[in-house]
Amino acid sequence: MPRTNGTTTQRGYDAKHKAERKRLEPIVARGGIACARCGEPIVPPEPWDLGHTDDRTGWTGPEHRDCNRADGARKRNAGARARRAPVERPFTRPERAW
Ligand SMILES: [Zn+2]
Repeated sequence: MPRTNGTTTQRGYDAKHKAERKRLEPIVARGGIACARCGEPIVPPEPWDLGHTDDRTGWTGPEHRDCNRADGARKRNAGARARRAPVERPFTRPERAW
């Protein structure tokens, strides 16, 4: 099975993301839409992002820009921590004291 072309998939995702955002824009602009992440209302003209599920197969809905980006930053930091985490110390054989 040939691998799926990641670039094409990514382009398709971006186009759909833009279309979905455009569709939601007038709805969010009317007010009364709750942030998918914190549950607080998004009050226009507050900036918002279209949040996506962790596996990027769908959208969670409009989110405060701060909520959306804060979560991304948290994930990135967690990843960085995990990569740094267990530092394996080189095993050194104890000197033999004869
Ligand atoms: Zn929020």
